[in-house]
Amino acid sequence: MSKIKILPEIISNKIAAGEVVERPASVVKELVENSLDAGSKRIMVDVVQGGRALIRVSDNGSGMNHDDALLALERYATSKIYKDQDLFTINTLGFRGEALPSIASVSRFSLVTRGESDDTGTEIQVDGGKIKNVAEIGAPQGTMVTAKQLFFNTPARRKFLKTVGTEMGHIAERVASIALGHPGVQFRLTHNDKTVKDWPVTAAPFDRVVDVLGSDMKNDLYAVAAKTDRMALSGWISSPRATRRTSRGVYIYVNGRFVRDRIVQHALFEGYSQRLVKGQFPLAVLFISVPFEEVDVNVHPTKNEVRFARQKEVHEAVRQTVAQTLYEVDRPEWGPAKINEFGIRNAEVGNKPLEFGLRPGVGYAREGRRTRRRPIGQDYAAAKDAEFGKRKLEEENSEWKLISDYQRQASSIGHSESANQPTTSNQQPATQTTTQSSIWQKKRFGDMRVIGQLHNTYIVCEAEAGLILIDQHAAHERVLFETFSIRSAETRPSVQRLLVPETIELGFREAGVLAKLIPELNELGMEIEPFGGNTFVVKTVPGMLAGREVKPLILEIVEKIVEMGSGPGLAKVLDQCRMLMACHGAIRANQTLSEKQIKGLLNQLDECQNPSHCPHGRPTWLRWELRTLEKSFKRVV
Ligand code: ADP
Ligand code: MG
Repeated sequence: MSKIKILPEIISNKIAAGEVVERPASVVKELVENSLDAGSKRIMVDVVQGGRALIRVSDNGSGMNHDDALLALERYATSKIYKDQDLFTINTLGFRGEALPSIASVSRFSLVTRGESDDTGTEIQVDGGKIKNVAEIGAPQGTMVTAKQLFFNTPARRKFLKTVGTEMGHIAERVASIALGHPGVQFRLTHNDKTVKDWPVTAAPFDRVVDVLGSDMKNDLYAVAAKTDRMALSGWISSPRATRRTSRGVYIYVNGRFVRDRIVQHALFEGYSQRLVKGQFPLAVLFISVPFEEVDVNVHPTKNEVRFARQKEVHEAVRQTVAQTLYEVDRPEWGPAKINEFGIRNAEVGNKPLEFGLRPGVGYAREGRRTRRRPIGQDYAAAKDAEFGKRKLEEENSEWKLISDYQRQASSIGHSESANQPTTSNQQPATQTTTQSSIWQKKRFGDMRVIGQLHNTYIVCEAEAGLILIDQHAAHERVLFETFSIRSAETRPSVQRLLVPETIELGFREAGVLAKLIPELNELGMEIEPFGGNTFVVKTVPGMLAGREVKPLILEIVEKIVEMGSGPGLAKVLDQCRMLMACHGAIRANQTLSEKQIKGLLNQLDECQNPSHCPHGRPTWLRWELRTLEKSFKRVV
């Protein structure tokens, strides 16, 4: 007799449940996604005891007739794909046909549903995978799925459930992430009969974003948008001054599906390069549209991850768009960027010419004073653009454009969540301004009145609307870093020949690293020669480091590069060298500066591409608005 047997369905469903139903939040996710796939406009999620006792999702979607309702509970039963090609062009959230049977196999489950053309509804009760009862009942159009006593028949799973608070936290987080991507749908979440969240339908996705991320973020979010003929990106990113300590505020949607995607997340963080310090994370809501056939959503049963066919392209597009948007918005509005002069080779925008056809002059290098991009109060929606997704793509080298014209963009990629909701793209962007822009309007660092130095460390300035403190070391570091970057990109820097060449002896490993770096350091103005064994001689330093001790700098560079290992690549290594050179060359704290030196520093800061942060991401300036001072002194209430 054969030892191998096909498992009974009830067991195979339980096995599938092991992957699909990790915790109550996964049940909520699967059910809500089903409701969205059914075209619902109102989705209610009711939870009791963190989902241990009850999870109920009711919707006003298409519903199912009697036969479909029964079929829906079978494994691999789905209305969303029919043939194998469909698997490569998935435009629904579900497609595996596993969720309902899985959930039903590990809970006391019931399904009540009625389709539009049905006179009566159907109720099906399932207990641990066994159908207990099927009945005709009166029901509104739509579907209500209830899962009680989750994992009652899988004690091992039940043991892994965390506290009610923790599980509820996961549920709320899940509902929020889905709601964020579907502003045209009302979501209500209750826990133990109390409303936790109620998000009304809105035609303006930005309203939903603010609802979910918190209204205090309203003025700290900046719209991002870009488009090629193969991909569209839209959404909002936070100002580097409004950050979180975890990456939980990062919401990524690929063709409308909320995913945890490392590639996009990494690209986002790279876009913030040098604007955040270690341990700081931005908030972001990013909607990415790619043709359905260029993204594999069938990577994992939970469908929380995707795989892009053009991973690099997606990464580069996100990084570039974020970097460029921040470049535009994250600078006090007090001077035209000298980007034409610099080319686009700074660390933020990339060390090599951008591949998507971005040139100075496209999107950001304008004549005269720029107009700040403002966070806008309404915008284009999550791009769930079936047309775009289905389009056949021929052009290989299309241009990646940063779109600064919101109207154009809204009409080209923006789609309000529901087709019958008009986009608001023809309205003017809301006129809210950031506090920054209103204060700094048309002011340069160099225009401020310098009051003096505080503790020989901070420069105290008066600006039209308040008090500004500048960290002299951080500011000068920024100036030097950019100078080194530009110089080495364009010409050789001015160098200072050391009167007495400096001899440096290193360990074996360090010597190997330095030997390899010699040509690059030479480019940066440091002429170094091997002197036999592990010894080297430094003959020149960049002019800007004249008079500084060179040995500690070389040692730190070598140490840092050893620490970095071989992973990050030459561009990062060189950035690191420049950062250390900037740090060693910069004005120190506790250093008295003359008024002329201060003025010089402020003027140089005006020339920087990223004047607001030192190369390590620390802020270079802090501001106290007049209003804040007045309040503190109780001059106003
Ligand atoms: P999938 O979503 O992968 O197709 P599910 O097991 O989640 O698999 O659902 C099976 C089928 O049941 C779906 O394809 C859909 O036709 C139907 N269905 C599930 N939930 C709903 C709902 N809320 N409204 C209407 N139909 C639903
Ligand atoms: Mg499903």
